[in-house]
Formats: sequence, structure tokens, C-alpha cells
Amino acid sequence: MSSEADCLFCGIVEGRIPADLVREDDHTVAFKDINPQAPVHVLVIPRKHMPSLDVSEPDDQALLGELLLRARDVARAEGIAESGYRTVVNTGDHGGQTVDHLHVHVLGGRAMQWPPG
Ligand code: 5GP
Ligand code: ZN
Repeated sequence: MSSEADCLFCGIVEGRIPADLVREDDHTVAFKDINPQAPVHVLVIPRKHMPSLDVSEPDDQALLGELLLRARDVARAEGIAESGYRTVVNTGDHGGQTVDHLHVHVLGGRAMQWPPG
């Protein structure tokens, strides 16, 4: 399994950096965002280090699908599936990505605005 010594989210996957874990399985880990933007704000990440959606490859198809299914599971477990929620993947500078390990934001517990900033 690839990882990067200086990657914050690899550190969370490996337990070197503490996080408020919500769920984990063989391929993914979910934990609460340290700076929540909504009453529920969870990040779902692959255990495997993948810098962004932009560098994903055809072989990552199953893993990318898994991330969305786990985002769904998080929403159900957090009690926001019925009221609705937003899933966000920021990519690169203009996308607002600040941590270079692919992550799906799961946001809910309040009505979201559209369009995003
Ligand atoms: P991005 O801006 O890359 O889409 O999202 C990165 C997210 O990671 C941000 O929402 C930020 O609050 C969160 N974050 C940054 N550092 C940490 C940390 O050390 N622990 C946790 N749990 N979340 C973090
Ligand atoms: Zn990483």
C-alpha cells in the first residue's frame, strides 16, 4: 500500500496522526473534518495514497465507486440521509484542494447553498 511520509491523511490512515474516526474498512477510512463547515462534516478517503481525482487511473474505478458508497453509508450513519447532504471532491488549486490525498467531503445537517463559491 503506497503512502507518503509527509502526507497528513496517510498519517491518519496509519494512526500516526489522531483523528475522530467515523468508520473504516479494508479500503477506506472516514473521519470528522477538523474544521467543520456544517453540523455533519466527514471526510471519506482511500487508504491508498492518491493525490487527487485528477491522477486517478482506470484501475482505480472500483475504489472510486467505493468512496461514494462509503459516503452514502456515512450519511446514513450520521442521520442525514433523509434530510439530504452534499458530497464534494475538490481538485487542484482552483478546486480548493488543500490536502493532496483524495477525499470526499460529506456535508449535512443544514441546507446547502448553490452555487458554491
Ligand atoms: P480540501 O480543502 O483539500 O478539499 O479539504 C481538506 C479538509 O481537510 C479541510 O476541510 C480541512 O478542514 C481538513 N483537515 C485539514 N487538516 C486536518 C486534520 O489534521 N484533521 C482533520 N480531521 N481534518 C483536517
Ligand atoms: Zn496520503
